[in-house]
Amino acid sequence: MAKPVSQGRSNSTQRIIVSHIEQNLSEIKQRMQHACQRSKRDPAEITLIAVSKNFPADDVRIAYEAGHTQFGENRWQEAESKIPLLPQSLQWHYIGSLQRNKVRKVLPHFCLIHSIDSLRLATYTNELAKELGLFPRVLLQVNLAGELSKGGFSAEELYQDAAALLQLERLEICGLMTVPPAVEDPEQARKWFRGVRELRDQIESLHSVTLPVLSMGMSGDFEVAIEEGATHIRVGTSIFGRRQY
Ligand SMILES: *Cc1c(COP(=O)(O)O)cnc(C)c1O
Repeated sequence: MAKPVSQGRSNSTQRIIVSHIEQNLSEIKQRMQHACQRSKRDPAEITLIAVSKNFPADDVRIAYEAGHTQFGENRWQEAESKIPLLPQSLQWHYIGSLQRNKVRKVLPHFCLIHSIDSLRLATYTNELAKELGLFPRVLLQVNLAGELSKGGFSAEELYQDAAALLQLERLEICGLMTVPPAVEDPEQARKWFRGVRELRDQIESLHSVTLPVLSMGMSGDFEVAIEEGATHIRVGTSIFGRRQY
C-alpha cells in the first residue's frame, strides 16, 4: 500500500522526504553511538528528541513510522494544531520559552517541560498542576553565558532558588537544560555543557537530590554534549532539514 501523501506534495517529493528523514535518523543514531564509545557511555542512556518545529505533521509521521517516538516543539501555537493529527503514542517535549498564559494548555500534552526558567514560572506551574491534578516532569533551564536573548537561571540564581524550587510539591524536577551560545566550532560549546553538568552535580550534593536528566546538544554540537554527559539531545535540522521561516 502506498504511504499517505501530504497535501500539496507530489508522490515523488513525498518519497524523497521519507527516505531523507529515515536516513538522517539512522545517521544521527550512528553518530550518537560513536560519541558514546569515545566517552565510554551506554547509548541506552541517551534520548534523541526530534525537534519538529516548523515542519508539518506529515514529517513527524514519517519519523514515527521509522520507529521514532520522542518529538520536541517550542511553541504552543504550533504544537496545538500538530499534536491532534498524530498518534497518541508519540511523546512530546516542550523545549521553547514558556509564557505563563500557555502553561495551562501545555501541561497535559507534554511528557517533559525543558524550559522552566524562573522561580516565578515554577511556582505558577506548580499551582496550575495542583489545580489540574497533574505532577509534571520538568527541567530547569540554565543560561550560564548570561545571554540576554535567552531565558534561564544563572548559576547564582539557581544556587539561590534551588531550595524553594525543590519544595514545589507538584513538580518533578528531573534535571537541567541548556542552549549554549551559538558557536562555529562545537568544541567551543564544551565548556558550557561541562559547566551545566558540574552545576547539576553541585545542586545534587548541596540538596541531597538526584537530577538525572541533562538536556543539552543540538544538530551542531550534540556529540560534544554527549561526551559531557547529556542524557537528552534535541536535534531538528539534522533530521528534518533546514527550517524555512
Ligand atoms: C530549535 C531548537 C533545537 C533544535 O535545533 P537544531 O539546530 O535545528 O538541531 C533544540 N533546542 C531548542 C530549544 C530549539 O529551540
